[in-house]
Amino acid sequence: MKEAILVINAGSSSLKFSIFLTDAGEKNKVTKNLDLLSRGQIEGIGVHPSFVVKDDKGVILAKNQWENSKDINHEFLLKYLIEWLDQNLQGAKVKAAGHRVVHGGTEFTSSVLVTEDILIKLEKLIPLAPLHQTHNLAAIKALKKVYPDLPQVACFDTSFHTTNPDVLRHFFIPRELEENEGIKRYGFHGLSYEYIAETLKQMDPELAQKRVLIAHLGSGSSMCAMKEGQSVTTSMGLTALDGLPMGTRPGAMDPGVVLYLMKEKKMTPDQIENLLYYKSGLLGLSGISNDMRQLQESDSPRALLTMEAFAWKVCQMIGSLAATIQGMDALVFTAGIGENSPRVRKIIVEKLSWMGVLLNEEANENKTDLSRKDRFGSFLINSLQSKVKVYVIPTNEELMIAKHVLKESL
Ligand code: ADP
Repeated sequence: MKEAILVINAGSSSLKFSIFLTDAGEKNKVTKNLDLLSRGQIEGIGVHPSFVVKDDKGVILAKNQWENSKDINHEFLLKYLIEWLDQNLQGAKVKAAGHRVVHGGTEFTSSVLVTEDILIKLEKLIPLAPLHQTHNLAAIKALKKVYPDLPQVACFDTSFHTTNPDVLRHFFIPRELEENEGIKRYGFHGLSYEYIAETLKQMDPELAQKRVLIAHLGSGSSMCAMKEGQSVTTSMGLTALDGLPMGTRPGAMDPGVVLYLMKEKKMTPDQIENLLYYKSGLLGLSGISNDMRQLQESDSPRALLTMEAFAWKVCQMIGSLAATIQGMDALVFTAGIGENSPRVRKIIVEKLSWMGVLLNEEANENKTDLSRKDRFGSFLINSLQSKVKVYVIPTNEELMIAKHVLKESL
């Protein structure tokens, strides 16, 4: 007999989901198998809702669309999803749901089974991540309304970084702002880093204990410095705007720019928020696209400049994070760009030869035995002379959430 776990990543008007199957009888939650059965998304909530679900190979299993109406809300769509799943899961039923929740503040050092009290605490964190937390919690509340007895587990992007030493978590601003408002560094992409840490432990247990830098380069990008498998510091701070440049976000920049925009250009907070979240980053600097694939295909000098500038920012961050763990034994590339762009990996790694990081170009292109993918889909791309091992490891945040759900609920 199988049980199903529903993993949900809810945004403002869309909701991505994955379904994992697991054996019902098996008691050991840590070694239980979790098999991805299907994934899909609900888009256009509040505008023109649509639903699509695909199998693990990407073949469409079902789709639907609705005319806009106030009845086709989160609750309706989640009920529709669970009913569809219960009829199409090879006899298995949805037993629990796991949600990606962006902010767990300082209190939530690991995932948690959601109760009314927990929900109240999570709502208090909305001001720290207004663009994400609201929507993450809306999905939990909607599901609770239609399936009050379904266990729901909140899995946080911040939890993995709660091991960061206090000395590395402060901003140099008046202390009251930290003490009264919680303005300090939290970090994000924790579910991705936790997955990579666990995977590296299985691939190379000795290396996983050493000084490891992970570059999560996707439409959102960040880096994490780890020692003994734990996060020591990370490039994002209070919000997901900090650190590396991203698809449409600038990453860390002189805060004086914001003051200039407010005072000289009379921009409102909403206009600045829109500029920083949706108009900057690769898109802003290139004026071409937020998508690295399009920059790679373009022969415009602006595209080339943007890729070079991005690579330098990644290298600057590597230097800075390596300082906090006093060196680097391994560098791991992951997420959309990190996993799929040999060209970006090359322009980054070539700038790191002063640290003894050396690339095997053929391995980087995935053309040698050395680069044959293992069962995790990962491969090594450093040359034999390199002092630092360089891995490409595909991340899997959904699987990490499903594992947390197993641990906390079933
Ligand atoms: P997210 O999960 O944050 O939406 P991903 O980790 O999936 O983002 O990364 C998406 C980004 O990865 C895309 O915007 C694109 O820039 C980049 N990407 C995906 N495939 C490739 C590729 N083959 N070459 C270069 N960049 C790629």
